[in-house]
Amino acid sequence: MPELVFFSGTMDCGKSTLALQIEHNRSARGLAGVIFTRNDRAGEGKLSSRLGLVTEAVEVEDGKDLYAYLVEHLSQGGRADYVIADEAQFLAPEQIDQLARVVDDLGLDVFAFGITTDFRSKLFPGSQRLVELADRIEVLQVEALCWCGARATHNARTIDGEMVVEGAQVVVGDVNQSAGEVGYEVLCRRHHRRRMTAATARAAALSPDVLPVSPS
Ligand SMILES: [Zn+2]
Repeated sequence: MPELVFFSGTMDCGKSTLALQIEHNRSARGLAGVIFTRNDRAGEGKLSSRLGLVTEAVEVEDGKDLYAYLVEHLSQGGRADYVIADEAQFLAPEQIDQLARVVDDLGLDVFAFGITTDFRSKLFPGSQRLVELADRIEVLQVEALCWCGARATHNARTIDGEMVVEGAQVVVGDVNQSAGEVGYEVLCRRHHRRRMTAATARAAALSPDVLPVSPS
């Protein structure tokens, strides 16, 4: 039975690497996939991983009907044995419904990869719809780590290394940002709640004004 599978995790947990691995394994067996992405770090129409691999993809704009795209693709003689949707948290809920229809009406497996929650630890609308509709949810096992070494479960947005909790839900940035730019950092829940990033923890440790306290 074809399935809609949601591979979820934090930033930096290897989602895009796994998406590329699925693509590689299937194309090595002669299968052809259609890859959708949105706001990939490598630019429009690309699916890339932090490990440096990249492949061509179809950029999903606002209002693009993913089901209609596939019907058109197939009717023009294009092949599609499966579908990958990377950065699925950025898709609109109705686009997730269209992916479910691709599974049910076209009989294709759809593998969606996305971050579950945003920098305020709220569900992205696309991820929420995936949780509601997916046949299966896989939480990725390549776990990202907080600076303290604990499992990172939350995404923080940073400006100059300082965690911020206000702003638009979607601001494209990277974990390797330069000064004044929006960046992202994965943290454990404790340090997300305390708004303590690697940079602020380091600054606090170096400050002579801070009296040593026993860790609580
Ligand atoms: Zn931590």
